[in-house]
Amino acid sequence: MNKLFGVLGNPISHSMSPDMHNDAFKQLEMNCHYHAFRVQKDELKQFVDALRVINISGFNVTIPHKVSIMDFLDEIDEEAKMIGAINTVVNSEGRLIGYNTDGRGFLYSLLQVTTNPLVEASVLVLGAGGAARAVVTAVVDHGVKKLTIANRTTENAVKIKENYEEYKKNAGGNIEVVTMAEVEGMISTFDIIINTTSIGMSPNIDAIPIPLENIKQSVILCDLIYNPLKTKWLQLGEEKGATILNGVGMFVMQGALAFEKWTGIMPNIDNMEKVVLNKLGGKSC
Ligand code: NAP
Repeated sequence: MNKLFGVLGNPISHSMSPDMHNDAFKQLEMNCHYHAFRVQKDELKQFVDALRVINISGFNVTIPHKVSIMDFLDEIDEEAKMIGAINTVVNSEGRLIGYNTDGRGFLYSLLQVTTNPLVEASVLVLGAGGAARAVVTAVVDHGVKKLTIANRTTENAVKIKENYEEYKKNAGGNIEVVTMAEVEGMISTFDIIINTTSIGMSPNIDAIPIPLENIKQSVILCDLIYNPLKTKWLQLGEEKGATILNGVGMFVMQGALAFEKWTGIMPNIDNMEKVVLNKLGGKSC
């Protein structure tokens, strides 16, 4: 049976998701198609109603609809409620159920480069937007020694900490919030540093989120950005001997986890990554 999937966003023409998912359907000889739908903010409800009518099997949601889509679904998974955003919707016998696979997408890509147990790591998250909420939830849920959040607007970081602690009934006691000024003096204490801000993203490719002069040599630097594939910040870290991880792994894993939710099948991650790197015109790091 022919099944339809897709992604809702605006802008959407540069999305790599259609190529990534359509290639996976082809490899698995599944008679399915994934389409990019450009949906304006004020069209979202109407559009979701239309997707119900055509009985779409599932879809992704991207900027600017990740939060507002929650009003138009029948059910929201607990992890997505806690993150406060949706990136994947499953049509389960007519009921639209929202999930968030971004956080675990990041976590799984991080676990591929960690050599020491994450539970023993001191982790710094720079930024406190939607991606940070997903990353903090997944990383703290997995277990870390300590997770520090620093952001230009400190109140947004405090909200993430309070939200996690309220949701987990204070089980997130190992989250701390510091200011950007304070964190610069603490940089040598972190085993893993994750940039979830958009600083360094094309076209502002010379900007860096935090200086790296005093980092541990064994540090893992993660940047959620994948355009450029190696941000200036990752380049500087690599020159200092750090292990570096860009946002390709997270993007591919969030897609693979969505694919699994829709079909029950985990697609071939390497193939998906090849398609994405081909679109981005380079090699991952
Ligand atoms: P968002 O919700 O808009 O959050 C942006 C964050 O960046 C906020 O913490 C914001 O600080 C900070 N920021 C932005 N410009 C800044 C500046 N000039 N100086 C200091 N801080 C600044 O965006 P998002 O959805 O979290 O996305 C953030 C990044 O993650 C983007 O680059 C996005 O492409 C990437 N991302 C990657 C993946 C992936 O699969 N690899 C998935 C999702 C997102 P304030 O709170 O002070 O505004």
